[in-house]
Amino acid sequence: MSFSDNIRRVTPYTPGEQPQRKVIKLNTNESPYPPSPQVVEAIRAIKASKLRLYPDPDCRELRETLAEEYGLEPEQVFVGVGSDDVLSMCFLTFFAGKKPVLFNDITYSFYEVWADVYRIPFETVPLRDDFSFDPKGFLKENGGIVICNPNAPTSLEAELADIEKVVAENQDSVVLIDEAYVDFGAHTALPLLKKYPNVVIVRTMSKSRALAGLRVGYAFGSKELIKALHDVKFSVNSYTLNMPALVAGVAAAADREYFEETVDRVLVTREKTKEALRSFGFTVPESRTNFLFAKPPEGTSAESLFEKLKEKDIYVRFFKKPRLSDYLRITIGTDAEMEQFIKVLQEIL
Ligand code: PMP
Repeated sequence: MSFSDNIRRVTPYTPGEQPQRKVIKLNTNESPYPPSPQVVEAIRAIKASKLRLYPDPDCRELRETLAEEYGLEPEQVFVGVGSDDVLSMCFLTFFAGKKPVLFNDITYSFYEVWADVYRIPFETVPLRDDFSFDPKGFLKENGGIVICNPNAPTSLEAELADIEKVVAENQDSVVLIDEAYVDFGAHTALPLLKKYPNVVIVRTMSKSRALAGLRVGYAFGSKELIKALHDVKFSVNSYTLNMPALVAGVAAAADREYFEETVDRVLVTREKTKEALRSFGFTVPESRTNFLFAKPPEGTSAESLFEKLKEKDIYVRFFKKPRLSDYLRITIGTDAEMEQFIKVLQEIL
């Protein structure tokens, strides 16, 4: 027996690269635009001397602002250090049973890492051959369900009716719906909150509100489930979001106009980029996210294209995994970045 036997062994999640020199960065689905000017102003107005104090452990103002923005009560809102923190807390809180938690075989790869680190049994449910969502696989005994909608890295949206079917048929389980990308043209499951007490919707300010660097995520659910999340949070770390993140989060949540304008710009650039890729022979499904899931034309391997783009300082994401290794995931940047990407692509092909 040695200390080595007592160590919790896990295979960690691998985040996308964050090169520290200037590149065209289309690999981690960040916003290509700065956060709202109101966020910038709010951060400038922070008094550094106040940093001697702990932040509000209840994150009250941020929760109230989000509640107001989405027509909920503050007791239905939980916030965390990015949605990764929120999702991790949800796994720890809601999946404490013995039956397997279910999620798709192709989805956000962090789900199985949290299941692993918290020793939660899980089973994967296959997407159809065309990567579309099939509710049938979720109609069996389980200890909880996670659905990423729209899904990553496929960029596809599930039918809301199919999601409702899963929720309605699994009222003894918590169904987590990860809506990290929902703001980019997908349908939210928010209306289900009124009908079902077993739904939790997880969102982030990292993509559509351009705050990836500050780490602000949130969840909506019934008061009972949100209270359970708070009880676990206050048993792990009371002060999660730091004071500047709370201040910026409030400003970002309140500036609907800037949020809608920048999201719209991303959507226009996405459609243009999709058409350009299709004209080169790429297969590109209809994205409802801020990225495209694109299969290069016959004769061009996704992996070699990924490497060649990188040599030219253009970073996209490649997953060396079954069913995914024929595709690249390309975040939508500014118009200028996407024009440069298309130009370089043309040279390589
Ligand atoms: N869910 C999905 C599907 C994601 O792609 C990401 C981004 N990696 C996250 C959650 C986490 O984002 P964040 O922690 O920045 O909110």
